[in-house]
Amino acid sequence: MKTQAIEKLMQKFANRKEQLYKQKEEGRKVFGMFCAYVPIEIILAGNAIPVGLCGGKNDTIPIAEEDLPRNLCPLIKSSYGFKKAKTCPYFEASDIVIGETTCEGKKKMFELMENLVPMHVMHLPHMKDNSSLEIWIKEVEKLKELVEKETGNKITEEKLKEMVDKVNKIRELFYKLYELRRAKPAPIKGLDVLKLFQFAYLLDVDDTIEVLEDLIKELEERVKKGEGYEGKRILITGCPMVAGNNKIVEIIEEVGGIVVGEESCTGTRFFENYVEGYSIEDIAKRYFKIPCACRFKNDERIENIKRLVKDLDVDGVVYYTLQYCHTFNVEGAKVEEALKEEGIPVIRIETDYSESDKEQLKTRLEAFIEMI
Ligand code: SF4
Ligand code: SF4
Repeated sequence: MKTQAIEKLMQKFANRKEQLYKQKEEGRKVFGMFCAYVPIEIILAGNAIPVGLCGGKNDTIPIAEEDLPRNLCPLIKSSYGFKKAKTCPYFEASDIVIGETTCEGKKKMFELMENLVPMHVMHLPHMKDNSSLEIWIKEVEKLKELVEKETGNKITEEKLKEMVDKVNKIRELFYKLYELRRAKPAPIKGLDVLKLFQFAYLLDVDDTIEVLEDLIKELEERVKKGEGYEGKRILITGCPMVAGNNKIVEIIEEVGGIVVGEESCTGTRFFENYVEGYSIEDIAKRYFKIPCACRFKNDERIENIKRLVKDLDVDGVVYYTLQYCHTFNVEGAKVEEALKEEGIPVIRIETDYSESDKEQLKTRLEAFIEMI
């Protein structure tokens, strides 16, 4: 029951490498990035191309471990390994990489990565008060200056407005998709939606819009006809599941669950909140609101999870963390407590990119889904 739009997504992804290198030949600069906090509107307004570089594969971890400790988040190691091995076409296409001071591991890894690729690191303050917001606004201004310098293109008000509208359009379409997934049965599998989020970090923005528009039309039809997938409705919350890392969603949907929502950077944190206005400050304010566990006192995230559980009529929550991701692991205790207080079933899963725990995870998730 694959939709044509998902087939189109896979096709566009298969062609993306070639398209990106062609865009580069035409003189466009490529900006690599590792985080949902990087305001892509600014990069696009300089006629440059943003691409997500977070690694989701195990293969590049051994080469990364020559420099990095073993007890470090697999996303960080996989990403670094891709650059060191020079095996990621998106990394190799990147003229410059934008990092950020989010979690400790990533930020310290950037100090090593600087030796491999030109980098610019944005200072994301971890507090959420006004003085921190002021710092962040200045960081976004600095990014604008950097994009202008690297591309040689002036970011005009018109160009910025055009790109704010375009990226807001993507958000609007993801909101529509979110609404459609409230239906019973669920009109689309979580695995297909995960791919959509993963590829949204890599595809040309116009292609993402095209796929989303097609998908929404198809899903509206499905919902009208009452077609879709039955199963225990699951919300995933926690670390991002970047391209190459589909393990948990695959298992959940294999053992009788259907993922209907993701509180994650490959999920709601990617599209929630519009940029309201066209100034640098308006852009900065939208990104500053992202409730990542790297921030201090992140209670908005807990409230979001509770709201999503109700709104999507979820049967159970899978709290997903990557090994050694201290921020999401520690925050997990607060989230678990808050959900249990409301009688919402929750299971905590900590894993890496290897296949070695697959059977064990399957047994645990199967038991959880049977129980809820
Ligand atoms: S989880 Fe936090 S650090 Fe990771 S991509 Fe999302 S916002 Fe960035
Ligand atoms: S998953 Fe956690 S440890 Fe890994 S990069 Fe993201 S915030 Fe950092």
